[in-house]
Amino acid sequence: MTENRLRQILQRIDGRGYKAYKDIEGGFDFGDFTLSIDHVQGDPFASPSRLRVFLPDSVAHFPGQFTAPGYRRVAVGDFLSRAFHRAVNQHSKRRRGTGRSGEIHIDSGGQEVLERSSILFNSDGVEARFYAGLPAAGRRVLGRHAEEMLCSEIPKIVSDSLMFRNISSEELSCHVRVVEDQEALRGQLKEKALVTFIGNASILPRRSGVDDRPLRPDQSHVVVPFQTPPELEVELELPGSGPIRGMGIPEGVTLIVGGGYHGKSTLLRAIERGVYNHLPGDGREVTVTVTSAAKIRAEDGRYVEKVDISPFIDNLPYGRDTKRFSTDNASGSTSQAANIMEALEVGSGLLLIDEDTSATNFIIRDARMQALVEKSKEPITPFLDRVENLKEECGISTILVMGGSGDYFDVADQVIMMDSYMPSCVTEKAKAVVAAFPTHRRVERTGGFGGVGNRRPLKGGFDAGRGRRDVKIDAKGLGIILYGVNNIDLSALEQLVDTSQTRAIGEAIHFFARNCASKRMSIDEGLRFLDQELNRKGLDILKPFKVGNLARPRIQEIASAINRLRTMKVE
Ligand code: ADP
Ligand code: MG
Repeated sequence: MTENRLRQILQRIDGRGYKAYKDIEGGFDFGDFTLSIDHVQGDPFASPSRLRVFLPDSVAHFPGQFTAPGYRRVAVGDFLSRAFHRAVNQHSKRRRGTGRSGEIHIDSGGQEVLERSSILFNSDGVEARFYAGLPAAGRRVLGRHAEEMLCSEIPKIVSDSLMFRNISSEELSCHVRVVEDQEALRGQLKEKALVTFIGNASILPRRSGVDDRPLRPDQSHVVVPFQTPPELEVELELPGSGPIRGMGIPEGVTLIVGGGYHGKSTLLRAIERGVYNHLPGDGREVTVTVTSAAKIRAEDGRYVEKVDISPFIDNLPYGRDTKRFSTDNASGSTSQAANIMEALEVGSGLLLIDEDTSATNFIIRDARMQALVEKSKEPITPFLDRVENLKEECGISTILVMGGSGDYFDVADQVIMMDSYMPSCVTEKAKAVVAAFPTHRRVERTGGFGGVGNRRPLKGGFDAGRGRRDVKIDAKGLGIILYGVNNIDLSALEQLVDTSQTRAIGEAIHFFARNCASKRMSIDEGLRFLDQELNRKGLDILKPFKVGNLARPRIQEIASAINRLRTMKVE
């Protein structure tokens, strides 16, 4: 059908009941592009309608270097979704009736550059998927407003944001280069035996707990750019612009110490987020961490299903099994132990721990407490006595923020001190302290760390059905997935950054249930299979129809969600 046909239908249904909008479902040829109206909302208050535009390469006309597969394509897609979003703000009138009438929305992300389903970009052309509230007054179709919105605003938005000749190729190239640089830096970590790199002059602090943009200096805030201590300075290579210097944290056990409010947690948070690529201007464009890094915290109340937490906890009262530990209501220490074991189960090579969010008794047990409460009455082997095991037996590194106890000096390979937001290397001083003030505590581990689990979830533990629907999965904000009749609480996953990732995780669990649990794959096997499928075929494999509101999650977060689904059972 042609654009004219769409205009005719909209004029015909003007003033009729909202259901009449169903008549515009279908594809329309606008000359330069096609507009597909895939799903029309039921009423003006329902979730907005689902639309797509497709521009063939002959119109979009992106030079070949941008369409190469892989992260470069992801970077271009990210750029285009943001450009589309800006063009919406510029060209669309919005408020034009009841409910969501007139809204146009594309999923375009915060400070991270993530693979998204909102833009599909390849050598055939560009597809943008977005959502629109079809205009109504009460429940009456506002046909003329719809015509303006679909037939004049959308062509302007498309032209401004999806055609190469109308976008700044300088900005686009910069966007791509910055992402490429981060991929390259992350790729150099392993060969240099580093787990994270923080480039000089990085801006780590954020505006607020709810605003992830870089902190800006003003009358009340000084912003201190990151400055590497000489002992930890390394040089990596940026593909475009040559060598770059910054702090490289080597594999092993690293402590971040320093007084309260001196920037310890801010540094750790930047390291956590270094698993993602950031936007130009974010301040963390040259801060990268190995992709498998896992933030580990206490999370009392969480569900745990048959996890072997025995390296950390055994001899529970009344002989409770800790090799296959299950609970509906974990304690601080058992939850933190389970979080570690589950992270190792999906191959995390770096654990990130902050004293602020840890269970004290999981982290330390000092000589005086050892003297008062004998080991036979303490089920917990503190992390302190396992951190070297983890390193030596399993090759797992740890970065730990610890301002409150010096016991870790005994086991640390490097000690970084934060002082007024400036890091210094105090490893030698800490060693001198160890010699001058022995702690007299006894190492409490018995035996080695042992293997990590490889649990196989049962298919029956996943039921996405709700009421009459066979599958009802949704995200309620960043931290909650509705999966059938269950809520999965992800609020403790600090490396989950985008609600569209949460949405994708809900679908990924469903994928796992159908394609992996049914074949008796373990969580790790199943999620690696899913990751390969996503690499090959993209996010569309997660949904039976085309949506524009999914962003790629890491397998770590998907595993965490499976582990928190309260009906999940393993063999
Ligand atoms: P700690 O964990 O050592 O107690 P935080 O990392 O929580 O300290 O930081 C305390 C405050 O200092 C936060 O409000 C944070 O935004 C701010 N901050 C951290 N690093 C910097 C920096 N480099 N420049 C300016 N402010 C910073
Ligand atoms: Mg802190």
